[in-house]
Amino acid sequence: MTRGVNADDLPTLRDELEAHGLWANKGLGQHFLLDLNITRRIARTAGDLDGKRVLEVGPGPGGLTRALLEAGAEVVAVEKDARFLPLLEPLIAWSDGRLTIVNDDALMVDEAALLKGERAAVISNLPYNVGTPLLVKWLKAGAWRGDMTLMFQKEVAQRIVAKPGGDAYGRLAVLTQARCDARLEFIVPARAFTPPPKISSAIVRLTDRADAYAHLDALERVTAAAFGQRRKMLRSALKSLTPEAETLLAQAELAPTARAEEIDQAGFRRLAEAWRSNAA
Ligand code: SAM
Repeated sequence: MTRGVNADDLPTLRDELEAHGLWANKGLGQHFLLDLNITRRIARTAGDLDGKRVLEVGPGPGGLTRALLEAGAEVVAVEKDARFLPLLEPLIAWSDGRLTIVNDDALMVDEAALLKGERAAVISNLPYNVGTPLLVKWLKAGAWRGDMTLMFQKEVAQRIVAKPGGDAYGRLAVLTQARCDARLEFIVPARAFTPPPKISSAIVRLTDRADAYAHLDALERVTAAAFGQRRKMLRSALKSLTPEAETLLAQAELAPTARAEEIDQAGFRRLAEAWRSNAA
């Protein structure tokens, strides 16, 4: 605990939800973590947050927000559902002004403007329905984005960290690992949430790679084609991208008979570069 605030001193989240007559809205992917032991563990997984800027999407009733503020972070929290504002607003004074609440859709916000150009870690228990588009948005983000500690459904987390050779390996792994080293940190069982979702979740930690690949748009194009027909050999699968699929593969030094799930990060980078040089 830093900066003298202890989340144990606050009314419990369960009491707060009851007092305000709030319930989860399934359409907004709302499953709440009301146990501070878990939200504190997520905050610890993100490293030393004292004095650090954090972007949190979907604070909901504020369980993770409390843990982040307790750890000393300066939090910008973007929440689409205005019903939670009365639960979040008291945390501003409690944290001595270290919380900024933005009532907006995280898919639409300009994070660089919200953060006034400052770099921020991204730490969120993401809504299931928009977790993947938000991740792709942040992978493409500019200098404002620091390391990310994010909660996804377990299957999505496994797809993010997957290595070549298995069914979990696909576009999400290639795009994420083009920018970040990805590690699955721990599983959070469904029963830890209120209301419990159908499946477990997992925390993924994404740290920027020194050799991050710049052209994510090109990588999106080639992985869409390659994994769009993942059981086919690349010489067939890539026909949706170009009639010259075999030439492209030769340029990228990839076997035309290989399948997408056998191609590693370096191979996909070569393929994206070959596609860019032909598209130019
Ligand atoms: N962080 C809270 C927790 O751990 O208990 C709530 C997590 S809940 C899985 C997801 C939260 O994201 C909800 O509060 C929901 O209203 C919010 N949300 C859903 N879609 C959103 C969007 N497009 N932009 C911002 N927040 C969104």
